[in-house]
Amino acid sequence: MSDECVFCRIVTGEISATIVLENEHAVAFEDVNPQAPTHILIVPRKHIGTLNDLRADDEALVGQLLTMARDIAQMRGHAAAGYRTVFNCNADAGQTVFHLHLHILGGRKLSWPPG
Ligand code: AMP
Ligand code: ZN
Repeated sequence: MSDECVFCRIVTGEISATIVLENEHAVAFEDVNPQAPTHILIVPRKHIGTLNDLRADDEALVGQLLTMARDIAQMRGHAAAGYRTVFNCNADAGQTVFHLHLHILGGRKLSWPPG
């Protein structure tokens, strides 16, 4: 938990967010500035700054985030049509919140390569 971290404060309920799903490992909520009809962020309850900060004992946790992404895509009806999952890491990828988060984007055709 980091007092200055907006996603830690969403995890504790100190800042409100539209929660989609949660379990003992992670919380999923609607992105406040959606880039697709479905744009949900999944964050671990534990504060991890970026992908660079992952440790060997976080491997199961990363699996939990992806499994939750699969479940949300299924819930929102995107499993068959397709959807995108993204971890941005540091400046060149455009990371703006330094608490690890998995974006789920779906509900429209997504171009590749990304900008
Ligand atoms: P990134 O650029 O990968 O760091 O993504 C950060 C995402 O967090 C952006 O898509 C923001 O719109 C989103 N975001 C920032 N603050 C909040 C918040 N309080 N509630 C929900 N989403 C947020
Ligand atoms: Zn945090």
